[in-house]
Amino acid sequence: MKINKCLILWVALMFLTACHHRTIKQSDTTLYYNGDIVTMQGDAPQMVEVIVEKRGKITFVGDLKTAEKQFSQAHRVDLQGRTLLPGFIDPHSHFGMVSNTMGQVNLNSPPVGSVTGIEDILSAIKAYKINNDIADGEWIFGWGYDESQLQEQRHPNKREIDQVLPNNPVYLQHTSGHMGVANSMALERMQVTADTPNPEGGNIDRISGSNEPNGLVQETAMYPFVGNMLQILASHQAQYFEQTQDYYAKNGVTTAQDGMTDRNALAFFQSQADAGKLKIDLVALAGFSDLDENLKDAELKWKTYQNGFKVQGTKIIADGSPQGKTAYFTNPYLTKVASCDHDCKGLPSLSQGTLNDLFVTAYAQDNQLFIHANGDATIDMVIAAHEYAAEQLNQPLDKDRRTIVIHAQFVRPDQLKTFQEYNMEPSFFTNHAYFWGDVHVQNLGKQRAYFLSPIAAAEELGLKYTDHSDDTVTPLDPMFSVWTAVNRVSRSGQVIGEQQRATPFQALKAITSHAAYELFDEELKGTLAVGKLADFVILNQNPLTVGPMSIKDIKVVETIKQGQTIYQLLESAQ
Ligand SMILES: [Zn+2]
Repeated sequence: MKINKCLILWVALMFLTACHHRTIKQSDTTLYYNGDIVTMQGDAPQMVEVIVEKRGKITFVGDLKTAEKQFSQAHRVDLQGRTLLPGFIDPHSHFGMVSNTMGQVNLNSPPVGSVTGIEDILSAIKAYKINNDIADGEWIFGWGYDESQLQEQRHPNKREIDQVLPNNPVYLQHTSGHMGVANSMALERMQVTADTPNPEGGNIDRISGSNEPNGLVQETAMYPFVGNMLQILASHQAQYFEQTQDYYAKNGVTTAQDGMTDRNALAFFQSQADAGKLKIDLVALAGFSDLDENLKDAELKWKTYQNGFKVQGTKIIADGSPQGKTAYFTNPYLTKVASCDHDCKGLPSLSQGTLNDLFVTAYAQDNQLFIHANGDATIDMVIAAHEYAAEQLNQPLDKDRRTIVIHAQFVRPDQLKTFQEYNMEPSFFTNHAYFWGDVHVQNLGKQRAYFLSPIAAAEELGLKYTDHSDDTVTPLDPMFSVWTAVNRVSRSGQVIGEQQRATPFQALKAITSHAAYELFDEELKGTLAVGKLADFVILNQNPLTVGPMSIKDIKVVETIKQGQTIYQLLESAQ
């Protein structure tokens, strides 16, 4: 953890730009002053003049006069009017999946990427081969293209890809994760030909008037391509580990999450941590299919950081996504649902019985649960499982277990009240208001859509809600999440539920103090208080005072983990 990156960074930066306020530390104490230092303590914004860090921890929070007297030898950092906050704590994303994207060409459309047509896809993959010096015959992968965002309104096909990359097998994964496009060499390698029948539950798309595959493989037909891709990317895991941390650090995140981790990845993360390779903290949620095996594994130390890594609890997936119409609701969708004729409410991923058993097993061992649940009918099932397990085990319903409902996007007001009674907490996903808000209004009607990820209602009940990106589903960027929570503006400009708009302070609590609480880290992190870790983010502007629509343009200037600078924006970019 305590890698002195500052010196290396400083030397590197010296050749590029003058390092304006960082010098090599002469002392083990650093005093930050002359900026908006927001403690994130209490119910309203509190600012202090000075924060002092000593050997990785916060040793003083208060006024300049006292600090100067008490810490006269301290190294001083002039914030030059910038804003210092506790380092952002990621309430839910997928570190491992982000890491996989490091080995793929980014083919997302704006605002995530810059692809607007098939030409852009072709030039991006061609450039990737050249820039990364990829030999003929080696696989090239892309991710995130969305045909509905392309001028052509269709998928690219194998012939187009063959034209730019005839000598490499290429597979491009669609943004939905349910399909992808392969070129001729990739189809050949995976032995998909005109004679290959469609697998059950899948489709190999054909060139019209023939049996020849056109490159598009859907659902189960895509599995071999994805399996091959994951296997190849896994062999580069260690190489992408540092890049992935840099991406989190660049976004001001000092504690990242891997939101569903299998046993191999748990072992890999711990090995990286033990080798001193973590610059930030990493929290994993173990996958529920391994629950029994994990609970028997004496090597697994739950809820305890070991060299910056901890396994906090278990992740359960209880339904699908609202935009994919696979989230489970008590009332039907208002638009056509694939392979459903009437009363289409979506489906849960697990039966009530299975969910009940998982809760009993986890609660019996005091294992913290994080349950992916989007629709209100699924949330009813989660509440029922909680009640069942508490009764079976003869435990109080409001025991401090902090069961977290991940997404909780279409939670009802009565369910929020139950969360409060049972000490359960929601982790919301307000980025949906921007990315799919318009779609939710069509599919679910205004009443349900406008109550999505209701921070204002949760605040009224005193819940410790968080707000996440679910990266790779939407970009990690915490300032963007604050922007969506505060504005709730959709792609088309529609306000998705004005009454549920968060204040900027509430939106910041959702990625600092509340996020620490949901991970049982409130003694260590989340606010600027004496004794806590010196995990800070410095922003070029204050989210509490800029115009609400400008929040997304705020830049992370510097990220500090336990007193060490782990990211710094080049001066020329500030
Ligand atoms: Zn997730």
